[in-house]
Amino acid sequence: MNPTKTSRSNSHRSSRLPVLFIGHGSPMNAIQENAFTRSLVNLGKTLPHPKAILCISAHWLTDGTWITHMPNPKTIHDFGGFPKPLFDIQYPAPGSPEFADLVGFEVKNPTVKNDDETWGLDHGSWSVLRHMYPKADVPVLQLSIDIQKPGEYHYQLGRHLQRLREQGVLIVGSGNVVHNLRQISWEPESKPFDWSVEFDEWVRVKLEKRDLKALCSDYLSSAAGRLSVPTPDHYYPLLYTLGAADNDDELSFDFEGFQNGSISMRTLSFGSKL
Ligand code: ZN
Repeated sequence: MNPTKTSRSNSHRSSRLPVLFIGHGSPMNAIQENAFTRSLVNLGKTLPHPKAILCISAHWLTDGTWITHMPNPKTIHDFGGFPKPLFDIQYPAPGSPEFADLVGFEVKNPTVKNDDETWGLDHGSWSVLRHMYPKADVPVLQLSIDIQKPGEYHYQLGRHLQRLREQGVLIVGSGNVVHNLRQISWEPESKPFDWSVEFDEWVRVKLEKRDLKALCSDYLSSAAGRLSVPTPDHYYPLLYTLGAADNDDELSFDFEGFQNGSISMRTLSFGSKL
């Protein structure tokens, strides 16, 4: 074995982090152990260790694009009607004004505005990160979603994030491919609706074909799509993940399945892990 070659190849692999999309589902996943949360634990162990995490969460919707710029973002419990243990959770990961500035540098259009005190980490971030990085020792930033803008805009914004992967930033889109709370079944393990299976499969096929146009623009072209994406907030994080990937990145499906009949937990990554 040639140690120089080995070390060079390791450094090459660790020099570009994968980019993820996580289907986060119910906030209850934060405090449950199930097949989905076990897959997150496994992801945390197999991913190269990041210097910072940039999360695009379905739960931070704004006018314009904002980044959390505070050194110590608060844990936001942005839900109601759940048991007290969920409200007791804190995820005390630090922020990083330095990495936030780096994101602002890479994304020149639109201008990313700094949020120094309003937001923090919502459950789209911490409900999954506490399984992946339970020590909360990696700085976490959130980038908001300008909800008035169309799909193509979010994909293009994601493209500006690509170079952050070479600078140790793990980009995580956190939403759900299928997310319809009006149709929800309160039994987590209930059989998924036919339309949710149909649309989840449509997305899987389009991802494998790298059919970006369809994923950005055609997701409402079927009845199944309109039922699966009644509002775009949980779908748009996928487009950031797509934008931050490129054609050389290997696609992996890290988890597939449904919760509550109308929520797809499909979780995927682009790029090589260990
Ligand atoms: Zn959500």
